[in-house]
Amino acid sequence: MSDPTVFERIIDGEIPAEIVHETDSVIAFLDANPLAPGHTLVVPKEPYERLRDTPPELSAAVFEAVRELTPAIEDAVDADATTVGINDGPAAGQEVPHLHVHIVPRFEGDGGGP
Ligand code: 5GP
Repeated sequence: MSDPTVFERIIDGEIPAEIVHETDSVIAFLDANPLAPGHTLVVPKEPYERLRDTPPELSAAVFEAVRELTPAIEDAVDADATTVGINDGPAAGQEVPHLHVHIVPRFEGDGGGP
């Protein structure tokens, strides 16, 4: 078996994270290296590497959490909009091999974006 990823270690409580949302199947916490204030990662608790590997019910739960969290995060950091994204595979920039959705708050004129 491969070593647990950093996200499994967060889920297991072995390393600390600022958890903002949690259900039986999904957890969301602040990114340790935020691209913007409020940058949040939404992660299924079961460790599937890519979106294609993830059972449909579980990916639905992940995206429902994204849908619920996005306005709350925008309000919390007074953002104007949000970029939601997945780096789905190493060539796309995925560094942690455990599916996660980035919620990145955006601000008028911040010049970022995909
Ligand atoms: P990826 O490049 O795989 O799409 O994104 C991985 C994200 O995980 C990065 O934005 C990185 O900052 C974040 N990250 C890596 N290690 C940790 C950690 O130990 N704690 C938290 N909260 N975020 C992490």
